[in-house]
Amino acid sequence: MPSPTPSTVSLLVSDLHKSFGSVEVLKGVSLKACEGDVISLLGSSGSGKSTFLRCINLLETPTSGLISVHGEEIKMTKDRRGVSSPSDARQVERIRARLAMVFQSFNLWSHMTVMENVIAGPIHVLKQPRAEAIENAKDVLERVGMYERRDYYPAHISGGQQQRAAIARALAMKPEVMLFDEPTSALDPELVGEVLRVIRSLAEEGRTMVVVTHEMAFARDVSSEVIFLHHGLIEEQGDPVQMFTDPKSTRFKEFLSNSR
Ligand code: ADP
Ligand code: MG
Repeated sequence: MPSPTPSTVSLLVSDLHKSFGSVEVLKGVSLKACEGDVISLLGSSGSGKSTFLRCINLLETPTSGLISVHGEEIKMTKDRRGVSSPSDARQVERIRARLAMVFQSFNLWSHMTVMENVIAGPIHVLKQPRAEAIENAKDVLERVGMYERRDYYPAHISGGQQQRAAIARALAMKPEVMLFDEPTSALDPELVGEVLRVIRSLAEEGRTMVVVTHEMAFARDVSSEVIFLHHGLIEEQGDPVQMFTDPKSTRFKEFLSNSR
């Protein structure tokens, strides 16, 4: 079998550690997402899921470990006290632009319309001309069923529509990998479906995604791999069908029985 070339690996995280003060929240977490992979990250509240995504996106600086995006390793240096930080600010900006994040709380800019939210990143970060950004925005807004609402402000649309607009904003950046942090947890139950359907269709399109979720049916049916995090360590990982029908670890079994 030919070994996969490095270019097919969209995201590689190796032995990631993160401490806040003396508390180690991530204790060596690794992940490999090849093009088209959908990885669901499960775990109880406080297990380190958000911190892990935030480290990948460099919203937090890992204490140690390696992150590489499409074969490009993020350069880190350590100071005299052993505290690491990214050493190349332009690289951070470049990498962050390739890893679009969708948050639980949507995080749309409230003073901007849906359209303005979607074109801001392409114009300011990707340096697209405004006309081109608007043209691309049309595609991504249609993609999530929000083109009709392009001139609305976030306060005047539902939570489900806000989250779909946030997904369009992420898509407009043409990311290498999309990171979702509990994208449906803040929604009223009747609005969860419309957002899950959009995420599901992105998965079917072959987009590479890491999704923190409590939606077990989504994790089981849509992902190529499931990772169960417990106290900052991977407790169990593997094929979703296998993991849901025959969980191995006691903690994952407990987690599953609590989520049903
Ligand atoms: P999850 O997303 O799985 O619920 P988090 O990654 O948000 O978990 O949090 C993991 C642990 O890290 C929690 O104990 C939380 O209190 C702690 N933590 C997260 N962010 C910070 C921070 N900025 N400062 C201190 N502790 C933090
Ligand atoms: Mg979280």
